[in-house]
Amino acid sequence: MSQNQNDSNKERKLLVSRQYQQDNTIIKVKDVEIGGASHVVIAGPCSVESKHQLLTVAETLKQEGVKFLRGGAFKPRTSPYDFQGLGVEGLRLMKEAADKTGLITISEIMSKEQIDQAARYIDIFQIGARNMQNFELLKAVGRTKNPVLLKRGLSATLEEFLFAAEYIVHQGNTQVILIERGIRTFEKWTRNTLDISAVPLLKQETHLPVLVDVTHSTGRKDILLPCAKAALAAGADGIMIEVHPNPPEALSDAKQQINLEEFHQFWKGLRDSNLFH
Ligand code: PEP
Ligand code: MN
Repeated sequence: MSQNQNDSNKERKLLVSRQYQQDNTIIKVKDVEIGGASHVVIAGPCSVESKHQLLTVAETLKQEGVKFLRGGAFKPRTSPYDFQGLGVEGLRLMKEAADKTGLITISEIMSKEQIDQAARYIDIFQIGARNMQNFELLKAVGRTKNPVLLKRGLSATLEEFLFAAEYIVHQGNTQVILIERGIRTFEKWTRNTLDISAVPLLKQETHLPVLVDVTHSTGRKDILLPCAKAALAAGADGIMIEVHPNPPEALSDAKQQINLEEFHQFWKGLRDSNLFH
């Protein structure tokens, strides 16, 4: 990089920065706001596995008053021998669940080629932690009109996280939602370390909505509620949590997903706290 480019980068106000836009970005999907006055909860299985599995979760979430359904169709797995997701069939099932329940759907896309397919079936694109710096993918979703849920990379600094969001917004798509999902540290009692300080820092530095994924950041079921409360207390706009009708049988993230009754307890605990609004 030339000295000039270096200098211009330092002086440039990022489009995602508070300096550039003081007011919070509010993302409206089917009349529900993300980053507005009310907190949001995004729940659902790690992977879409079958029609029965997905519809069971979706119908329960609907009854509970949740508005957003997550479910992975294209799964980024550490081992190529692990379940890779149902692909387009998974997206179709997400659409079926949405048509039945009215829930707003979120699913991960891992390549540019998946964008058009996904746009036909789901509402919000998720860019996973492993793809936070897949710049071609960021640029490509930046040229779409769908909101993008961008996960923080496994070892990404907050500055890198914001630059990743900037790639999307720079292409014209201003509907970006940031989500802290834990970072890699030496700690072994949790799968990742929930960087709670990321929440107030991001809220200070950017106008984009900030969520916390309590499932991937902890990797365990017994501290979800206190971590979710901590996230809201720190200023998060909402929570993501993995819910599966039968977690021990799940094809991905079996250890960390909670069942429907556990979700009921979690959701009640959160709503009963004076933090949730
Ligand atoms: C997921 O949401 O299921 C997932 C794979 O998350 P992350 O990209 O944060 O690991
Ligand atoms: Mn998962």
